[in-house]
Amino acid sequence: MRLKRLADLKKSAAPEICLAALPQKIAMTPFAREKAFTINALVRTIYGQSYEWYGFTLAWQQQPELIVDIGLPVNEQNQDQYVSLAAEQIAAFREALPDAMLINGWIHSHGDLALQHFSAIDAANQATVLDYVTAQLWLPVAKVEVGIQDLVCLTDGSWTEADLIPGSVTLITDVPVRSARLWETEYGGFCYAVVIGDDGWHEQEIHYKKRGILSGRTFVSHQAAEMILVPDGRQLTAADCEALAEEVRTRLSPVPSIPAKLEGL
Ligand SMILES: [Zn+2]
Repeated sequence: MRLKRLADLKKSAAPEICLAALPQKIAMTPFAREKAFTINALVRTIYGQSYEWYGFTLAWQQQPELIVDIGLPVNEQNQDQYVSLAAEQIAAFREALPDAMLINGWIHSHGDLALQHFSAIDAANQATVLDYVTAQLWLPVAKVEVGIQDLVCLTDGSWTEADLIPGSVTLITDVPVRSARLWETEYGGFCYAVVIGDDGWHEQEIHYKKRGILSGRTFVSHQAAEMILVPDGRQLTAADCEALAEEVRTRLSPVPSIPAKLEGL
């Protein structure tokens, strides 16, 4: 027999079956998309220049993967190139939502900045939103075998505390068994991230988090994602725009940026 290359001898991944697929693309209604860009336009009209702002992408509980609306929370501080958010702000916004809706991600604008991608600050904000959103959106996504190096099998009624000392995992069964395989459910969640700009550009990512119910193993990953428009018949009306203008007026707090040389004065 031929010797395998070292790479081939690497331990293979744990056996796994898929229970549910997390979204690979970001589905959004035309209404939600138009609303996002309308906020950009309103910021320029109302404040006379572009500012960053952030909002939440909203879905119906029944269809958590489809963005049907954009929620604009109170933005504590909008600067021309920096916006930040905290878990308390997300929780406060969630409290005010109807029970039938949930937050499935966040959206923010870079206004007229040249940076047409997610920034390092965005990544920090993203971690905050991912934790919050996935905590509300866990679903069983996979069943994965848990590799156990030294399993000890004991039988009910014939073991003592001393028998519990050896081994990394002890299984006590009603009839004697010599070996067992353990599979755990992995719960997973996703969180959308969308960044847009005044010129109509947009970029999206989907962030994922999975955790094994037994082992507690947690995996976090993300990928760039395509946006697909899924019409739901709703259109942005003049009344919607008026209400949105009022929200932009009352919920954003633009502050001019301070040039670095003036800081500390
Ligand atoms: Zn950003």
